[in-house]
Amino acid sequence: MGTYYEWVADLDVTEHDAPEVGRRVVEALVARGVILPELSPDAALGGDGHPAGPAWADTVEASASGESPWGVQVRVGRAVQDGGQFDVGSVTCPRCSATREFFGPPEEFGPTCSDEEGMGQFYAAAEAWSEGDAGSEADLECRACGVATPVVEWRAGGAALSCLAFVFWSWDELRPEVLRWVADATGGHRVASGSGKI
Ligand SMILES: [Zn+2]
Repeated sequence: MGTYYEWVADLDVTEHDAPEVGRRVVEALVARGVILPELSPDAALGGDGHPAGPAWADTVEASASGESPWGVQVRVGRAVQDGGQFDVGSVTCPRCSATREFFGPPEEFGPTCSDEEGMGQFYAAAEAWSEGDAGSEADLECRACGVATPVVEWRAGGAALSCLAFVFWSWDELRPEVLRWVADATGGHRVASGSGKI
């Protein structure tokens, strides 16, 4: 079975500002009735979350089950947001904009249909970054232009490195305006989003 989730990450917030910006986003979602202000251990997997509020249905195009989702968990601190069982799908170099796809047909990607080496390099650099490393361990080298740049500057398909993220537990796919609500509450930061399953 597993549990599905949607995540929204703030790509611009600093580590210092993340707790405060997280509070502002929670306030905005509470004001819309999407979540409740209190925290509950039943609203998130592996932590506390804000239970879904009366207006949760406004956040999804269609609800598969029709039942209220669990709630929204605020993650503060450097972390890799991704799809859980669905790994990062691609990475794009910040310097030359070349995209390295991690999944494809067996003719190109072999029997696993995936680029395990490329994904491994991404996650190794991402882990170094999340542990606070600002050195070359946290760099990712581009196959196209040959230049190594900090992994946090790369764009990732289906994943994001950020200091602040919101995990919508047991939630159906979010409508695009929810991303705008979050971005507005952060003060206009760029946000990334994705779906996952644990
Ligand atoms: Zn490049």
